[in-house]
Amino acid sequence: MAKESLNKYSEKLRKVSKIFRYTEPDLEEILKQVLAIGFSTLRFDWMEILLWDSERKVLEVKVVAEKDGIMEGEEEIFISEKTDPRIIVGLGREKCIVRKKKGAEGFFSIKSGNKILGVLGINNRLSGRNIKEWQISLLKEYAEEIGVGIGNLELLLKEQMQADKFKALSKIGMALVGQLKLENRIKIILRSVIKHLSIERVKLYLVNEEKKVLQGTMSFDLRGKFHVLKEVYSLKKKTHPEVFMVMKKEAQEVGSFGLVFSIPLKVEKKIVGFLVADNIFSRERIKKEDIEYLKLFAQQASVSIENARLFNDVERLSLTDGLTGLYTNRYFRKRLGDEIVRTTRLKTKLALAIIDIDYFKSYNDSYGHMVGDRVLVDLAGIIMKNIRQVDFAARYGGDEFVVFFPSTSLEGVQIVTFRLLRAIRKHYFLISGKKIGVSVSMGFAIYPSNARNKEALFRKADKALYRAKSQGRNQACFYSETLDKK
Ligand code: GH3
Ligand code: MG
Repeated sequence: MAKESLNKYSEKLRKVSKIFRYTEPDLEEILKQVLAIGFSTLRFDWMEILLWDSERKVLEVKVVAEKDGIMEGEEEIFISEKTDPRIIVGLGREKCIVRKKKGAEGFFSIKSGNKILGVLGINNRLSGRNIKEWQISLLKEYAEEIGVGIGNLELLLKEQMQADKFKALSKIGMALVGQLKLENRIKIILRSVIKHLSIERVKLYLVNEEKKVLQGTMSFDLRGKFHVLKEVYSLKKKTHPEVFMVMKKEAQEVGSFGLVFSIPLKVEKKIVGFLVADNIFSRERIKKEDIEYLKLFAQQASVSIENARLFNDVERLSLTDGLTGLYTNRYFRKRLGDEIVRTTRLKTKLALAIIDIDYFKSYNDSYGHMVGDRVLVDLAGIIMKNIRQVDFAARYGGDEFVVFFPSTSLEGVQIVTFRLLRAIRKHYFLISGKKIGVSVSMGFAIYPSNARNKEALFRKADKALYRAKSQGRNQACFYSETLDKK
């Protein structure tokens, strides 16, 4: 073979590197073009590129070239002791293995650095032609070019994918910050796992320290539906295989087909729950790389779930006022809203009372804040003692209390009012041996007679209160339309 023609072939084959560099990073498409160059330059009966999937331990036939054209391959070759030793040889230990005579056949390893990427296979089985030395050296060069190309491409794709996933992670982080409710946070986490990873279903379990159970929360799958998980496993009895399996501290496979993994959610080494991801439907192994990302997701998830739980506690605590133990204004408004809906449905009436201590400031001024606080606590007690079980009282702020009375007629409210005013008038505080009394003013409004919604109801009751104060305090006043005209 003349040196010039060898150079000519070699130059043609070197176009391969350009294809890797300038074509869209789509491996299958690139390999087709690459093999087309090899096939038209070297003219064997058959050429193929097989890629090594190290996780599944299979060689996948990616592209095949023969006289009919270039096709995508479909075959997969599992590597075991019994596999054709030539492939294994080609896979690593040697650059190539070639049978030269009688329908030549050869395997050339495709590597990137020391990493085995796959095999380039050729044969002349159909024509029975043999293979020449110069062809072998060209094939070695060609396989090397392919190795470098795929190596670079993989790097590029990996970087791109990582960048995408990290972007996704930071987005989830932001979405989580915007949501304080535990349930919403769980939804964001589950949805993100399915959206960004090759995982078909994910479930979230939380450890309930108080009840000593592992509790299912929700699952989300490819079909895009959330399901409430009703599973509850006692943590005391380690008999449940599920509990036993998920109580491990590290991400681990459940079963042995690579289809289910559990990932612990940890906050400072304490396990607060688990994500369980599965590909049971397709039976496709979960990729190692996705497990790594699941671990990252889990880190984000644990912190944010723990925060949401704390927030839930805070929210529960903030239902009641620290001083008097009565419900807070915020919770009262919520309950009042619910009660108004019920009242409308039942076509009954509801009364709202605002109760304000008369000259409360003077107690603080004369006897100090501590005495003022005592007055507030005592008054809260008196209110609670004198209303019915169905009535709902709260400290509205400062020296103001609110009560709503569901399904109550005007007469009914008047009876309660009378009782309440009397109880307060009778009550006194012993301060430095002196008996000190306290009085309140009350304003009432009725839903729906006086107001059509919650806000208006508050306004009308407040007007009535103002009236009670201006008429001399120590009394209750009901809203009437004449008050609007003043
Ligand atoms: P009025 O009869 O017009 O209602 O007079 P008042 O003095 O009760 O009205 P005002 O709203 O001016 O005073 C309310 C006072 O309640 C002012 C504030 O110092 C006091 N206060 C609010 N919250 C607390 C508390 O938690 N503890 C104590 N000791 N005082 C409080
Ligand atoms: Mg007051």
